[in-house]
Amino acid sequence: MRGSCVCGACRFEADLAPGTEFHACHCETCRRWTGSVNFSVEVAPDAIRFDEPPAIAALRTSDWAERTWCARCGSNLFYRLTVGPKAGWMYLSLGLLDDPGAIPFGGEIYIDRKPETYALAGDHSRLTKAETEARFASQD
Ligand SMILES: [Zn+2]
Ligand SMILES: [Zn+2]
Repeated sequence: MRGSCVCGACRFEADLAPGTEFHACHCETCRRWTGSVNFSVEVAPDAIRFDEPPAIAALRTSDWAERTWCARCGSNLFYRLTVGPKAGWMYLSLGLLDDPGAIPFGGEIYIDRKPETYALAGDHSRLTKAETEARFASQD
């Protein structure tokens, strides 16, 4: 699936695993990083190819991950794990994809960090911070 930042300096093709869903994260870091809620899709380390060497800026935002953006236009690109068995895996911003509507919705995480003033409709999983962190820990 193809995608791009706003300015086009980071154009890419991503191979999404069959059955890939996007998730909504309401954690404080994603909220500040995106300005709202972070919709992202999981991508394997070798599954993104950029058309040109991209100008990617990165900031380490925790002991286990960094967040990246286009150094030219500022579009959020992906959250990338830096340690553990999934080091190198990325959580690509859904909105970069040319056809975000092709990806099914998999549910919300850090639901207890979501402001009360908005909500995502529908029947899907809604994990609290504790439930989210327990699930990640069990994957290590
Ligand atoms: Zn850009
Ligand atoms: Zn988050």
